[in-house]
Amino acid sequence: MNRENIKKVVILGGGESGYGSAVLAKTKGYDTFLSDAGTIGDRYRTLLDQEGIDYEQGGHTEERILSADLVVKSPGIPEKAPIVQKLREAGVEIVSEIEFAHPFSKGRTICITGSNGKTTTTTLTHKILSEAGMNVAVGGNIGRSYALTVAREDKEWYVLELSSFQLDGCYDFKADVGVLMNITPDHLDRYNYIFQNYIDSKMRICRNQTSADHFIYSADDKTTLAEVEKLSPAASLHPFGKANIADGVATVELGDKRVEIELERLHIKGLHNAYNAMAATLAALAAGVSEESILRSLYSFEGVEHRLEFVRSVDGVEWINDSKATNVDSVWYALESMQHPTVWIAGGTDKGNDYEPLMDFVGKKVKALVCMGVNNAKLIDNFSGIVPVYNTSSLAEAVEVCRQVAQSGDTVLLSPACASFDLFRNYEERGRLFKEAVWGLKAENE
Ligand code: ADP
Repeated sequence: MNRENIKKVVILGGGESGYGSAVLAKTKGYDTFLSDAGTIGDRYRTLLDQEGIDYEQGGHTEERILSADLVVKSPGIPEKAPIVQKLREAGVEIVSEIEFAHPFSKGRTICITGSNGKTTTTTLTHKILSEAGMNVAVGGNIGRSYALTVAREDKEWYVLELSSFQLDGCYDFKADVGVLMNITPDHLDRYNYIFQNYIDSKMRICRNQTSADHFIYSADDKTTLAEVEKLSPAASLHPFGKANIADGVATVELGDKRVEIELERLHIKGLHNAYNAMAATLAALAAGVSEESILRSLYSFEGVEHRLEFVRSVDGVEWINDSKATNVDSVWYALESMQHPTVWIAGGTDKGNDYEPLMDFVGKKVKALVCMGVNNAKLIDNFSGIVPVYNTSSLAEAVEVCRQVAQSGDTVLLSPACASFDLFRNYEERGRLFKEAVWGLKAENE
């Protein structure tokens, strides 16, 4: 993209990403305007005021937006939003925050995408690099936005969690190290319900890469493998998968470096977390971190809240919060890692789920399914006759049923496979309220 003729930059969306882009645009001397069709949170309004950035909320002033030379669109705004359609018709260039910010940074990037495992792998990779003493920031979908860090204090390295929505608006951007965890159906509502569209979006992670760059991906994910074959990425390729694991040790190699991860020593459990650890290790090796330093950070990583998070044992029953499991694949890995008979809490807003991949685990590991949602019909239909199914419509009710059904030695797992918006504000609220309810349980001998 030729930036020389750009004077007016409009930012759509007033959250973390939009605010960061606006600060960067203003810092770089553009005529900057931010517009949000909804309400901008108090925090960001105060910050925009402090920065002297012009903005509007509760609607879009079309004329002003359509006169932009460049629009930076926040990832939450779908392509089908009327203002985006009008911009397309008018031929105005629309990019993501990452595409916009990248040319202003001298730093190198490790970009992590995938349907599941992004946050865990991003957090872990950032921990490894920062504990190795590198000048590094985390960004993208988590923490402070990339654009804001670039504007304020550019770093030598960035570890960025990139959603497909962030990647959709990337054209010239290139990741120095690209990491693709897996591709399974998710967010299809934003991709015309065509899986290939979503796959194409994820594969943008290796777009523009050259032989000097690294591409790290799962060798166990058939969809990814087929795409790698089709696209033959130019980067140096580093697959990881079950083939790297033998006798409880995951061995990963990059160049002449080799790291042996004793999986028992990781706090994060399950095959999916072995994948996350291998991907983070490969990324850290590509960034030049030493083997010893990587292992030290891996073994002290406690995981991220709401991802298979152990809450508490009550009367011999373990309670686990996996509220972030908002699709079928993440529940597959949650069930895969269960070691005891499991009372499984699922339900919420369905995203077009196909429950077939779970049937085997449910038959073998699940003792009862407790549905928690406004409309549980699909779950009940799918699992009745395979396990006892309980129909509940609130968290309190679901926890109460689990309390009655689970016996000493069992695990209660909240791993919903659905979005949370029917009963909660978001998955964080769902997980937090679940933990509060679990902490409120009275043990029998108390
Ligand atoms: P994301 O940021 O991609 O949503 P998270 O790290 O937040 O990924 O994990 C989301 C959910 O997926 C959690 O329930 C977690 O236990 C599960 N999960 C984590 N890593 C993986 C993986 N590599 N493959 C499949 N599921 C995973």
